[in-house]
Amino acid sequence: MTGALTPHGVFALVPCSASNDTLFWMYSQGVPMPSAGNTRDGWEEHSKTATEGFKPTILTAVDSVQGNYGDLLKHVIKSTEVVKFYPIFRLPLGGKWSQGRCLLLGDAGHAMPPHVGQGVGMALEDAFLLSRLLQASPPNAPLSEIFSQFDRIRRPRIEKLYKQAAGKGEQRKETGPWMHWVKEIAIWAALLLYTSSGLYKWGFGEGDVVYDIDEAEV
Ligand SMILES: Cc1cc2nc3c(=O)[nH]c(=O)nc-3n(C[C@H](O)[C@H](O)[C@H](O)COP(=O)(O)OP(=O)(O)OC[C@H]3O[C@@H](n4cnc5c(N)ncnc54)[C@H](O)[C@@H]3O)c2cc1C
Repeated sequence: MTGALTPHGVFALVPCSASNDTLFWMYSQGVPMPSAGNTRDGWEEHSKTATEGFKPTILTAVDSVQGNYGDLLKHVIKSTEVVKFYPIFRLPLGGKWSQGRCLLLGDAGHAMPPHVGQGVGMALEDAFLLSRLLQASPPNAPLSEIFSQFDRIRRPRIEKLYKQAAGKGEQRKETGPWMHWVKEIAIWAALLLYTSSGLYKWGFGEGDVVYDIDEAEV
């Protein structure tokens, strides 16, 4: 995956096949609330206008990316046939996840901003933990006990990653040209230090992403 910061948001380009002949790209930037309101219909209306005129809009957005990489991005955008607009919905923290025989997993319980790329991981961790708890409990154990154990184990990790994602989202909001320049230099310097000093070999920077739910104490 490669990416570029622009003063308005962030662009990422990802190969989708082993031979690199299919690419996926995304561009994330803040948009004003739809004039028809912050509702499903309002966002569908916004989606239509955003996708109809997407090429000139995105080409302008990545205009600040210079050199060969900038040319590559523009070529990829111009060659794109299908584009979709996804508004980001998130659930507030602290919601209730279970009632009676029902437990919410994944986004249904804790949809978070996508800026740390952990939404799928969170849903899978939920599923692995729940199956482990069900397997370890006696057949007539009350579900409410299993669900509160699930809540106790999952909530701190989910809240932590949710807050990290929300924080990263804030950093990617619209900036002026000077702040954009400072961010680029800071990221470039941090990456240079990280790779040249071999910090990655020691697992620095992996943070909360490297985690095994099967090792969580139940
Ligand atoms: C723009 C964007 C970028 C993202 N990028 C990343 C990323 O890089 N990495 C990452 O890990 N995560 C990312 N995510 C988050 C990730 O997509 C979700 O966290 C993840 O898909 C949640 O999985 P889930 O199974 O809980 O829910 P979903 O994937 O939403 O699955 C729920 C399914 O239920 C179906 N459904 C809904 N209602 C009904 C019904 N009544 N009957 C039957 N079926 C129904 C839906 O159609 C859907 O298929 C991103 C999200 C967005 C919006």
